[in-house]
Amino acid sequence: MRIRGLGRFRNALRQIRGRIAPGPTILIYHRVNDVSADPQLLSVTPAHFEEHLEVLSKFYRVLPLNDLAAAALNGTVPRNAVAITFDDGYANNYDYAWPLLKKYSIPATIFVTTGYVSSHREFFCDELERVMLRTGRLPKILKLNIAEEHYVWQLYRSHNRQRDLRNDSWTVRDAGHPTPAHKAYRDLHCILRNRSYEIQEQVIHDLRTVVGDSGSARRTHRALSWEQIRTLAVDGLVDIGAHTVNHVFLSSLDKEAQRKEIIGSIETIEANTHKKVTSFAYPYGTQDSYDAHSRAIVIGAGCLNASSNFQARISAETDPFQLPRLIVRDCSGDSFHHYLRRNAL
Ligand SMILES: [Zn+2]
Repeated sequence: MRIRGLGRFRNALRQIRGRIAPGPTILIYHRVNDVSADPQLLSVTPAHFEEHLEVLSKFYRVLPLNDLAAAALNGTVPRNAVAITFDDGYANNYDYAWPLLKKYSIPATIFVTTGYVSSHREFFCDELERVMLRTGRLPKILKLNIAEEHYVWQLYRSHNRQRDLRNDSWTVRDAGHPTPAHKAYRDLHCILRNRSYEIQEQVIHDLRTVVGDSGSARRTHRALSWEQIRTLAVDGLVDIGAHTVNHVFLSSLDKEAQRKEIIGSIETIEANTHKKVTSFAYPYGTQDSYDAHSRAIVIGAGCLNASSNFQARISAETDPFQLPRLIVRDCSGDSFHHYLRRNAL
Protein backbone atom coordinates (compact mmCIF):
# COMPACT_ATOMS: atom_id res chain seq x y z
CA MET A 1 0.00 0.00 0.00
CA ARG A 2 2.73 2.39 0.97
CA ILE A 3 4.62 1.73 -2.25
CA ARG A 4 1.50 2.18 -4.40
CA GLY A 5 0.76 5.47 -2.60
CA LEU A 6 4.26 6.69 -3.25
CA GLY A 7 3.91 5.76 -6.92
CA ARG A 8 0.68 7.75 -7.19
CA PHE A 9 2.34 10.73 -5.54
CA ARG A 10 5.26 10.56 -7.96
CA ASN A 11 2.92 10.32 -10.94
CA ALA A 12 0.93 13.30 -9.75
CA LEU A 13 4.15 15.28 -9.29
CA ARG A 14 5.24 14.35 -12.80
CA GLN A 15 1.91 15.49 -14.22
CA ILE A 16 2.08 18.80 -12.38
CA ARG A 17 5.66 19.32 -13.60
CA GLY A 18 4.49 18.50 -17.14
CA ARG A 19 1.82 21.19 -16.95
CA ILE A 20 4.13 23.85 -15.60
CA ALA A 21 5.74 25.71 -18.48
CA PRO A 22 9.22 27.12 -18.14
CA GLY A 23 9.45 30.80 -17.32
CA PRO A 24 9.52 33.26 -20.23
CA THR A 25 12.42 32.30 -22.45
CA ILE A 26 14.34 33.92 -25.28
CA LEU A 27 15.90 31.36 -27.62
CA ILE A 28 19.06 31.84 -29.70
CA TYR A 29 19.59 30.10 -32.99
CA HIS A 30 22.36 30.76 -35.48
CA ARG A 31 22.19 28.68 -38.68
CA VAL A 32 19.25 26.65 -39.93
CA ASN A 33 20.74 24.25 -42.47
CA ASP A 34 22.24 20.83 -43.06
CA VAL A 35 26.01 20.82 -42.68
CA SER A 36 28.44 17.90 -42.72
CA ALA A 37 30.42 19.23 -39.76
CA ASP A 38 29.55 21.73 -37.06
CA PRO A 39 32.36 22.00 -34.49
CA GLN A 40 30.86 25.09 -32.82
CA LEU A 41 27.35 23.52 -32.69
CA LEU A 42 25.69 26.45 -34.45
CA SER A 43 23.47 24.64 -36.99
CA VAL A 44 19.98 23.26 -36.53
CA THR A 45 18.65 21.25 -39.48
CA PRO A 46 15.52 22.61 -41.20
CA ALA A 47 13.68 19.38 -40.27
CA HIS A 48 14.53 19.81 -36.59
CA PHE A 49 13.76 23.53 -36.71
CA GLU A 50 10.28 22.71 -37.99
CA GLU A 51 9.85 20.20 -35.13
CA HIS A 52 10.85 22.97 -32.69
CA LEU A 53 8.24 25.28 -34.22
CA GLU A 54 5.61 22.53 -33.86
CA VAL A 55 6.43 22.21 -30.15
CA LEU A 56 6.39 25.97 -29.71
CA SER A 57 3.06 26.42 -31.47
CA LYS A 58 1.48 23.60 -29.42
CA PHE A 59 2.77 24.35 -25.94
CA TYR A 60 4.10 27.91 -25.87
CA ARG A 61 3.12 31.42 -26.74
CA VAL A 62 5.69 32.85 -29.12
CA LEU A 63 5.91 36.63 -28.93
CA PRO A 64 8.03 39.13 -30.85
CA LEU A 65 11.16 39.84 -28.78
CA ASN A 66 10.12 43.47 -28.17
CA ASP A 67 6.71 42.37 -26.85
CA LEU A 68 8.21 39.73 -24.54
CA ALA A 69 10.79 42.20 -23.19
CA ALA A 70 8.16 44.92 -22.62
CA ALA A 71 5.72 42.50 -20.95
CA ALA A 72 8.53 41.16 -18.73
CA LEU A 73 9.29 44.68 -17.56
CA ASN A 74 5.73 45.43 -16.47
CA GLY A 75 5.20 41.97 -15.01
CA THR A 76 2.56 40.84 -17.50
CA VAL A 77 4.54 38.29 -19.48
CA PRO A 78 2.87 34.85 -19.66
CA ARG A 79 4.95 32.05 -18.08
CA ASN A 80 4.96 30.10 -21.31
CA ALA A 81 6.10 33.06 -23.43
CA VAL A 82 8.98 32.41 -25.82
CA ALA A 83 10.79 34.71 -28.24
CA ILE A 84 12.97 33.42 -31.08
CA THR A 85 16.20 35.15 -32.07
CA PHE A 86 18.91 34.38 -34.62
CA ASP A 87 22.41 35.76 -34.16
CA ASP A 88 24.91 36.85 -36.81
CA GLY A 89 22.68 37.08 -39.90
CA TYR A 90 23.22 33.90 -41.93
CA ALA A 91 21.60 33.65 -45.37
CA ASN A 92 20.05 30.32 -44.38
CA ASN A 93 17.82 32.24 -41.93
CA TYR A 94 16.18 33.59 -45.08
CA ASP A 95 16.38 30.39 -47.14
CA TYR A 96 15.17 27.86 -44.54
CA ALA A 97 14.02 29.50 -41.29
CA TRP A 98 11.83 32.27 -42.70
CA PRO A 99 9.56 30.01 -44.84
CA LEU A 100 9.00 27.80 -41.77
CA LEU A 101 8.34 30.78 -39.52
CA LYS A 102 5.76 31.94 -42.08
CA LYS A 103 4.18 28.48 -42.23
CA TYR A 104 3.59 28.57 -38.45
CA SER A 105 3.05 32.38 -38.25
CA ILE A 106 5.79 32.59 -35.64
CA PRO A 107 7.69 35.90 -35.26
CA ALA A 108 11.45 36.15 -34.77
CA THR A 109 14.30 38.64 -34.61
CA ILE A 110 17.48 38.30 -36.67
CA PHE A 111 20.53 40.13 -35.32
CA VAL A 112 22.59 41.17 -38.33
CA THR A 113 26.36 41.77 -38.37
CA THR A 114 26.36 44.48 -41.03
CA GLY A 115 30.01 44.22 -42.16
CA TYR A 116 29.34 40.75 -43.56
CA VAL A 117 26.05 41.47 -45.35
CA SER A 118 26.25 40.86 -49.13
CA SER A 119 29.93 39.89 -48.73
CA HIS A 120 31.76 36.77 -49.86
CA ARG A 121 33.38 36.36 -46.46
CA GLU A 122 32.52 33.93 -43.69
CA PHE A 123 32.35 34.96 -40.05
CA PHE A 124 35.69 34.65 -38.27
CA CYS A 125 34.96 31.41 -36.40
CA ASP A 126 33.55 29.75 -39.55
CA GLU A 127 36.52 30.89 -41.61
CA LEU A 128 38.88 29.52 -38.98
CA GLU A 129 37.12 26.15 -39.13
CA ARG A 130 37.11 26.11 -42.92
CA VAL A 131 40.80 26.89 -43.28
CA MET A 132 41.99 24.70 -40.39
CA LEU A 133 39.74 21.65 -40.79
CA ARG A 134 38.39 21.68 -44.36
CA THR A 135 41.15 22.59 -46.78
CA GLY A 136 43.43 19.63 -45.91
CA ARG A 137 46.47 21.69 -46.82
CA LEU A 138 47.98 22.59 -43.45
CA PRO A 139 51.75 22.39 -43.13
CA LYS A 140 53.57 19.99 -40.80
CA ILE A 141 54.49 22.93 -38.60
CA LEU A 142 52.14 25.92 -38.35
CA LYS A 143 53.80 29.18 -37.31
CA LEU A 144 51.79 32.35 -36.72
CA ASN A 145 52.52 35.78 -35.31
CA ILE A 146 49.52 37.08 -33.39
CA ALA A 147 49.74 40.55 -31.86
CA GLU A 148 53.55 40.34 -31.54
CA GLU A 149 53.44 36.85 -29.99
CA HIS A 150 54.89 33.93 -31.90
CA TYR A 151 52.94 30.67 -31.89
CA VAL A 152 54.01 27.28 -33.21
CA TRP A 153 51.86 24.16 -33.62
CA GLN A 154 53.51 20.86 -34.44
CA LEU A 155 50.92 19.24 -36.69
CA TYR A 156 53.12 16.13 -37.18
CA ARG A 157 52.13 15.45 -40.74
CA SER A 158 50.35 17.07 -43.63
CA HIS A 159 46.68 16.51 -43.07
CA ASN A 160 44.71 15.27 -45.95
CA ARG A 161 41.11 16.11 -46.56
CA GLN A 162 39.93 12.51 -46.25
CA ARG A 163 41.37 12.21 -42.78
CA ASP A 164 39.74 15.44 -41.62
CA LEU A 165 36.39 14.49 -43.10
CA ARG A 166 36.38 11.34 -40.99
CA ASN A 167 36.25 13.60 -37.94
CA ASP A 168 33.11 15.49 -38.91
CA SER A 169 31.36 14.56 -35.68
CA TRP A 170 33.99 16.33 -33.55
CA THR A 171 32.80 19.43 -31.69
CA VAL A 172 34.33 21.81 -29.18
CA ARG A 173 32.34 19.97 -26.50
CA ASP A 174 34.68 16.96 -26.91
CA ALA A 175 37.59 16.98 -24.49
CA GLY A 176 40.06 15.34 -26.87
CA HIS A 177 41.23 16.08 -30.40
CA PRO A 178 41.17 13.60 -33.30
CA THR A 179 44.12 15.35 -35.01
CA PRO A 180 46.65 18.02 -33.98
CA ALA A 181 44.84 20.35 -36.44
CA HIS A 182 41.73 20.16 -34.25
CA LYS A 183 43.80 21.09 -31.21
CA ALA A 184 45.37 24.02 -33.10
CA TYR A 185 41.89 25.11 -34.27
CA ARG A 186 40.60 25.13 -30.68
CA ASP A 187 43.73 26.99 -29.46
CA LEU A 188 43.36 29.62 -32.19
CA HIS A 189 39.69 30.11 -31.42
CA CYS A 190 40.52 30.75 -27.74
CA ILE A 191 43.44 33.06 -28.57
CA LEU A 192 41.48 35.11 -31.11
CA ARG A 193 37.98 35.23 -29.63
CA ASN A 194 38.43 38.51 -27.76
CA ARG A 195 41.07 40.06 -30.06
CA SER A 196 40.33 42.97 -32.34
CA TYR A 197 38.69 42.44 -35.71
CA GLU A 198 41.95 43.55 -37.40
CA ILE A 199 43.98 40.87 -35.59
CA GLN A 200 41.39 38.20 -36.40
CA GLU A 201 41.40 39.23 -40.07
CA GLN A 202 45.22 39.24 -40.19
CA VAL A 203 45.40 35.69 -38.81
CA ILE A 204 42.75 34.48 -41.26
CA HIS A 205 44.70 36.15 -44.07
CA ASP A 206 47.96 34.48 -42.90
CA LEU A 207 46.28 31.09 -42.63
CA ARG A 208 44.78 31.44 -46.10
CA THR A 209 48.22 32.26 -47.44
CA VAL A 210 49.73 29.22 -45.68
CA VAL A 211 47.17 26.81 -47.18
CA GLY A 212 46.85 28.65 -50.51
CA ASP A 213 43.14 29.27 -50.14
CA SER A 214 40.98 31.80 -51.96
CA GLY A 215 38.68 32.28 -48.96
CA SER A 216 35.31 32.42 -50.69
CA ALA A 217 32.32 31.83 -48.38
CA ARG A 218 30.66 28.41 -48.42
CA ARG A 219 27.03 28.46 -49.51
CA THR A 220 26.10 26.97 -46.12
CA HIS A 221 27.91 29.68 -44.16
CA ARG A 222 27.42 32.90 -46.13
CA ALA A 223 25.72 35.97 -44.66
CA LEU A 224 22.40 37.51 -45.68
CA SER A 225 22.31 39.98 -48.56
CA TRP A 226 20.76 43.44 -48.23
CA GLU A 227 18.09 42.38 -50.70
CA GLN A 228 17.11 39.47 -48.43
CA ILE A 229 17.14 41.72 -45.36
CA ARG A 230 14.91 44.28 -47.08
CA THR A 231 12.48 41.53 -48.09
CA LEU A 232 12.34 40.30 -44.48
CA ALA A 233 11.85 43.84 -43.16
CA VAL A 234 8.98 44.53 -45.57
CA ASP A 235 7.29 41.20 -44.77
CA GLY A 236 7.29 42.15 -41.09
CA LEU A 237 7.18 38.72 -39.43
CA VAL A 238 10.92 38.91 -38.82
CA ASP A 239 12.36 41.94 -37.06
CA ILE A 240 15.90 43.02 -37.95
CA GLY A 241 18.15 43.83 -34.98
CA ALA A 242 21.80 44.91 -34.89
CA HIS A 243 24.86 42.84 -33.87
CA THR A 244 27.76 45.29 -34.52
CA VAL A 245 29.61 45.86 -37.81
CA ASN A 246 32.39 43.29 -37.41
CA HIS A 247 31.19 40.88 -34.69
CA VAL A 248 33.64 42.22 -32.13
CA PHE A 249 34.27 41.49 -28.46
CA LEU A 250 33.00 44.93 -27.40
CA SER A 251 34.63 45.08 -23.96
CA SER A 252 38.06 44.84 -25.60
CA LEU A 253 37.44 48.15 -27.39
CA ASP A 254 37.49 51.73 -26.11
CA LYS A 255 34.25 53.72 -25.97
CA GLU A 256 34.70 55.39 -29.38
CA ALA A 257 35.49 52.13 -31.16
CA GLN A 258 32.46 50.52 -29.50
CA ARG A 259 30.31 53.42 -30.66
CA LYS A 260 31.44 52.90 -34.27
CA GLU A 261 30.61 49.20 -34.10
CA ILE A 262 27.21 49.59 -32.40
CA ILE A 263 25.92 52.79 -34.01
CA GLY A 264 27.47 51.84 -37.35
CA SER A 265 25.48 48.61 -37.49
CA ILE A 266 22.23 50.25 -36.36
CA GLU A 267 22.48 53.13 -38.85
CA THR A 268 23.40 50.85 -41.74
CA ILE A 269 20.37 48.62 -41.11
CA GLU A 270 18.07 51.62 -40.76
CA ALA A 271 19.39 53.13 -44.02
CA ASN A 272 18.77 49.87 -45.86
CA THR A 273 15.40 48.90 -44.38
CA HIS A 274 13.94 52.36 -43.67
CA LYS A 275 12.82 50.94 -40.33
CA LYS A 276 13.95 51.89 -36.83
CA VAL A 277 16.22 49.32 -35.19
CA THR A 278 14.86 48.58 -31.73
CA SER A 279 16.90 45.53 -30.66
CA PHE A 280 20.59 44.81 -30.31
CA ALA A 281 22.50 41.64 -29.39
CA TYR A 282 26.04 41.72 -27.95
CA PRO A 283 28.38 39.52 -30.01
CA TYR A 284 29.46 36.46 -27.94
CA GLY A 285 26.99 37.74 -25.32
CA THR A 286 28.84 36.55 -22.22
CA GLN A 287 28.93 39.05 -19.37
CA ASP A 288 32.62 39.75 -20.00
CA SER A 289 32.09 40.45 -23.72
CA TYR A 290 30.45 43.86 -23.19
CA ASP A 291 30.59 46.56 -20.54
CA ALA A 292 28.77 49.62 -19.20
CA HIS A 293 29.84 51.66 -22.28
CA SER A 294 28.28 49.11 -24.64
CA ARG A 295 25.02 49.15 -22.69
CA ALA A 296 24.92 52.98 -22.57
CA ILE A 297 25.60 53.29 -26.32
CA VAL A 298 22.77 50.85 -27.14
CA ILE A 299 20.38 52.82 -24.91
CA GLY A 300 21.55 56.12 -26.43
CA ALA A 301 20.86 54.75 -29.92
CA GLY A 302 17.19 54.40 -29.02
CA CYS A 303 17.04 50.60 -28.79
CA LEU A 304 14.34 49.14 -26.56
CA ASN A 305 16.36 46.11 -25.47
CA ALA A 306 19.67 44.28 -25.82
CA SER A 307 20.21 40.55 -25.66
CA SER A 308 23.05 38.71 -23.96
CA ASN A 309 23.95 35.04 -24.12
CA PHE A 310 23.66 33.68 -20.59
CA GLN A 311 20.85 31.94 -18.79
CA ALA A 312 18.85 33.61 -16.02
CA ARG A 313 15.26 34.03 -14.97
CA ILE A 314 13.33 36.71 -16.89
CA SER A 315 11.20 38.82 -14.57
CA ALA A 316 10.23 42.45 -13.89
CA GLU A 317 13.71 42.85 -12.33
CA THR A 318 15.52 41.77 -15.51
CA ASP A 319 17.67 44.45 -17.12
CA PRO A 320 16.09 44.95 -20.59
CA PHE A 321 19.58 45.80 -21.87
CA GLN A 322 21.02 42.45 -20.73
CA LEU A 323 18.26 40.01 -21.62
CA PRO A 324 19.23 36.42 -20.81
CA ARG A 325 18.83 33.89 -23.62
CA LEU A 326 18.87 30.12 -24.01
CA ILE A 327 20.95 28.67 -26.84
CA VAL A 328 19.33 25.95 -28.95
CA ARG A 329 21.42 23.11 -30.40
CA ASP A 330 20.43 20.69 -33.15
CA CYS A 331 17.96 18.20 -31.70
CA SER A 332 14.57 16.60 -32.37
CA GLY A 333 11.31 18.23 -31.31
CA ASP A 334 11.01 15.86 -28.32
CA SER A 335 14.52 16.67 -27.11
CA PHE A 336 13.84 20.37 -27.63
CA HIS A 337 10.65 20.11 -25.54
CA HIS A 338 12.55 18.35 -22.73
CA TYR A 339 15.35 20.88 -23.00
CA LEU A 340 12.93 23.78 -22.53
CA ARG A 341 11.36 22.11 -19.51
CA ARG A 342 14.72 21.21 -18.00
CA ASN A 343 15.82 24.81 -18.32
CA ALA A 344 12.69 26.22 -16.68
CA LEU A 345 13.88 29.11 -14.53
ZN1 LIG B 1 27.13 36.50 -32.88
